[in-house]
Formats: sequence, structure tokens, C-alpha cells
Amino acid sequence: MTNKLKYFIGNWKMFGDFGSLKIIYQIHRFCVGLKRRLKKNKIILCVPTTLIYYFNTKLKSKFISIGAQNCHSHDTYGPFTGSVNASMLKNAGAKYVILGHSENRTEGDTNRLIKKKIESALNQKLNIIFCIGETFEEKRDGKTLSILKSQIKGSIKKKYDFKKIIIAYEPVWSIGTGKIPKIQELKKTFKYIKSEFKKNFKTSTFPVVIYGGSVNGKNVHKFSSISEIDGFLIGGASQSSKKFIDIIRNYYK
Ligand code: PEP
Repeated sequence: MTNKLKYFIGNWKMFGDFGSLKIIYQIHRFCVGLKRRLKKNKIILCVPTTLIYYFNTKLKSKFISIGAQNCHSHDTYGPFTGSVNASMLKNAGAKYVILGHSENRTEGDTNRLIKKKIESALNQKLNIIFCIGETFEEKRDGKTLSILKSQIKGSIKKKYDFKKIIIAYEPVWSIGTGKIPKIQELKKTFKYIKSEFKKNFKTSTFPVVIYGGSVNGKNVHKFSSISEIDGFLIGGASQSSKKFIDIIRNYYK
């Protein structure tokens, strides 16, 4: 086990109301008990836009940061019914925003559009959780690495502050399915992502790269042998304090 900072990031998706604050309180209480250990962990919960301001004002936790799940690419106000931009998220108190999630890519987010969103969110000094990953068909056809390369090159620019970008490798076929990649494959993929970054962006800062896709309390220990994994993006299991806490606890067992 390394001493590097590990990220446990929850993606609540379309889940939660004001009453769900109790889930965050329970996670907070767990963190209080962990205190010293927590210096090695960063816990971020990306919640629906409707809850960001409420959670931020109610929850005074130095252990947990609140993030958003998407934003519009337009910097200023505009005629975009139902949308919020990065500055509105920032105003509500978000510190992070997930961009490029496969569920949004399926709804029309292209690499180019994601690049505009990243740019806009970075302008607002938000931290980005940038999702990349191949579909089942792309994996079957041996295209995983080339897809990741095109997603990275299509949305990331050299001039970005890489300290503000977390890459989340999320194989689309693994999200919500209970399937996870083979550990040897995952090791290779993580090495590839990190070396692609170094090669293309000539950055001395290695990006933080986390894994997402069906992570739970039972399988999380399998990932601990891969030192390149800097943490996890957790969907379904982050909607329950018990399941989320189990992941953190069992990772260190
Ligand atoms: C996600 O939606 O980012 C995700 C990883 O989902 P799950 O953990 O439910 O597979």
C-alpha cells in the first residue's frame, strides 16, 4: 500500500433529496473516526445540482467536498433551457465537476463539447473529474487504448493546469453491470493513460487517475495491488452510506 493520496469520489447520478443529507452526515461521522488515516484520503460527493447549495450550507465537514455532475459549455448566462453553467455551480458551492461521463456522452457529449466544458469549468477554478472509457464493442475489437487516446487528445489541451484534473477511467461496459476488468488488463491501461499524458502534454505533474465501474465493498481489495490507481469513482454504491464506507474500509483491509 502506498502513502499517496487516494480519492473516493461518489457520483450520485439522478438520486437524492434534502433528506439525503443524512447519508453525508453518516459518511462524515465515519471520517471523524478515521481522522489520522484520512490525511491519505480525499472524499468528494458529486450530487444533483438541486442539492449542492443545501449540502454545502448544512454540512460543515473538513473531510468531504461537494461536487457537481455536469455543466453547460457556455460561460455566461444564455438561452439554454434546463442547463446550468460552471459559474452557477461554483456559485452554489461546488468544488468539483464530473465531465465526459459515459451517460452524458450517450446523450450527445462529444470530445469537442467536453473540451469546451472543461475549459469553462477551469476558468471558474473548478476541479474536473474527466471520464474516459471504451464501450463493450470497442473492447471486443481491441480498440480500448486507441479510444482512450482519442478521448484524451480530443478534450485536453497542453495549457491546462493538470493539478486540477482527475482522470476517471470508466469502461462503459462496467458501469452499473457488476463486471470489472481483469487486474492485469487494468494495470496495463492505467500505465498507458499515465504515459500518454506525460508524452502528449509534457507535464511534470502526473495526473491523478482513478477507476470507476461497479466498485463495491466486496471487490475493492482487488484494486489495491495496482499502485497506478489513485482512487475510485463510485456510482450506485455511493448512494448508501454503508456501501460507500465499506468500500473505503475494505480497501485498506
Ligand atoms: C459511475 O456512474 O460513474 C459509476 C462508476 O457507476 P457504478 O459504480 O454504479 O458502476
